[in-house]
Amino acid sequence: MTDVAHGRTATYPDPPTVDPADPSAAHLARLVQRYGRSPFTPLETVRHELGVDRDTFARLLATVRRRPDLRAAVTSGPSGQYWTKTILPLERDGVLDNVLARKVVYPHIIALYPGPTCMFRCHFCVRVTGARYQQSALADGNAMFASVIDEVPPDNPFAMYVSGGLEPLTNPGLGELVSRAAGRGFKLVLYSNSFALTEQTLSRQPGLWDLHGLRTSLYGLTDEEYEETTGKRAAFGRVKDNLLRFQRLRADRDRPVRLGFSYLVLPGRARRLLHLVDFIAELNAAAPDYPIDFLDLREDYSGRPDGKLSAAERAELQDALGAFADRVAERTPTLRVDYGYALQGLKAGIESELIRVDPAGMRPTAHIQAGVQIDVLGDVYLYREAGFPGLPGAQRYIAGRVGPGRSLAQVVEEYVHSGAGVAAVPGDEYFMDGFDQVLTARLSQLEADIAAGWRDFRGFLR
Ligand code: SF4
Repeated sequence: MTDVAHGRTATYPDPPTVDPADPSAAHLARLVQRYGRSPFTPLETVRHELGVDRDTFARLLATVRRRPDLRAAVTSGPSGQYWTKTILPLERDGVLDNVLARKVVYPHIIALYPGPTCMFRCHFCVRVTGARYQQSALADGNAMFASVIDEVPPDNPFAMYVSGGLEPLTNPGLGELVSRAAGRGFKLVLYSNSFALTEQTLSRQPGLWDLHGLRTSLYGLTDEEYEETTGKRAAFGRVKDNLLRFQRLRADRDRPVRLGFSYLVLPGRARRLLHLVDFIAELNAAAPDYPIDFLDLREDYSGRPDGKLSAAERAELQDALGAFADRVAERTPTLRVDYGYALQGLKAGIESELIRVDPAGMRPTAHIQAGVQIDVLGDVYLYREAGFPGLPGAQRYIAGRVGPGRSLAQVVEEYVHSGAGVAAVPGDEYFMDGFDQVLTARLSQLEADIAAGWRDFRGFLR
């Protein structure tokens, strides 16, 4: 199957072979195509589109379930990343069933937000300028984080990560927390802007070498771009120096900290992607045996109506992504690039469906069984973009507070048993990141399928 757009040809796997004598073949092909493009569609919607009765539809669904080639055709479709990156792993781990059954379990993913402040003021960031956690709160906060690290069952080494909220490296106790978690077998990844990843920080916090990975959010490739985005002068030079040093040190120490980036492709900066590859190649040259491990590219769709790019922007971005992929193959061939939900389809020239949950689509009880975020005060937030101090309305999304005498397990239990829910108002949708949005859309889909009597086949694939 090929789609041609903007002069670039995209190739997807051929559709699975279907018997032309089989009258259901056309229906199967349409099903596969529909869910490869729009994974969150309720089953009844598709049944009506196909114009088949329930028995026939059940037979079609059972056929898809039986045939790996049909499943593969769905997951390699233009929206396949939703299936492969998020939905199917959560299904495999029973996380979605736990949410639907309102079980009292440890959240599947626990984000620690230990940063009391941030040195940047990115123009797209929701944080409140000037709002921060007091330094005097850090001792108790770090004791609280230590207690969470100690209580989480160690059966899933990736159950926790460190992010924000604000910048984690502004917490001088972070290294100790990382070591503590590593001592219990957790593989922590730190999300940071790496401005404070200085020689001094590394020597004062040797525990940072116990990280499993460091993911640096990169806000430009020159000092000018950084200043435009973060408001901070001369920041790129410092971040680059920090990363070059980190590269050399991890090679010298033979430390297996995985190193990578997330990079938001901001409007008008698509052409800069080639320079991004050159930057990574420069870091690789500093430690040839330890090339940069990964790069997560993300599209910035904030501030656009419906999150849609104009046709001209799409064309520019698609061409830039093609040239970028060629440059990666040439200069940084070991780099694992993740294009995310939206860019993967765009790169291939096929418009995928980008999920945008509005306040009416938000679930009052959210999805505490799937994930929580814990800030310096011990407040347990239900959404990833809500954990900032002083953010108007965000307090409504606090499930409870961990602290002396109250564990995370107790917070979850009390929250679930209370039946508490939040009535979303306009603007609340910005508390959700992409992961929260996918979860919300999937859970609503599952509930619709179950309500329509499709429990056995709910969610199409699992
Ligand atoms: S996006 Fe991150 S680095 Fe930028 S201001 Fe917000 S917390 Fe700081």
